[in-house]
Amino acid sequence: MLFTRLISNFARFLVIGFTVSYFNQFLIPIIGIKPDTCSFDFKIDESFFQHFEYSEIKSGEVQVHLAMEKEEKLIKFHFSLTGYVRIPCDRCYEPLNQKISGEEELIVKFGPDFHEESEVVQVIPEGENHFDISPFLYEYVHLLLPIRRVHPEDEEGHSECNPEIIRLLEASPKPAEPDPRWEILNKLKTNN
Ligand SMILES: [Zn+2]
Repeated sequence: MLFTRLISNFARFLVIGFTVSYFNQFLIPIIGIKPDTCSFDFKIDESFFQHFEYSEIKSGEVQVHLAMEKEEKLIKFHFSLTGYVRIPCDRCYEPLNQKISGEEELIVKFGPDFHEESEVVQVIPEGENHFDISPFLYEYVHLLLPIRRVHPEDEEGHSECNPEIIRLLEASPKPAEPDPRWEILNKLKTNN
């Protein structure tokens, strides 16, 4: 019993240790960087998305290139993201690999405390050594998702959605159209 508990505690320690060390890469050093551009490359995958408990994205593979440019009172972050994430299809609810690709800009300024000055300007206290980009990467991946996410069509123009689910959805009764006579009655009621 004690041995089992020791093993499970040790496993938990390993998981927490892994998460901390994995997320360390997203703490970008901001003190001592040279005024000209410096850059970093990351790959975000399952280990990243699983950290965000309520994420609808559970896995994927996104390459991130970050180029930083330091000016006198601010640092410009330029992100390029490209890859795919696995999310449920809006039509058949089966998982699909959604390609994403795009650029995002962020300006980090120094000020009295942490606050968001605008969508693209983040203020951090003077003297901070590092800046955590992980919440921004999480947000950017979601911003790059299309509004409608459905399985694509194959070369012959057939949808790659799960055919059985589509058949079931098409067979289920559609909500009844409102009776136009009720519409007229309702109008009469509101007019009186
Ligand atoms: Zn589908």
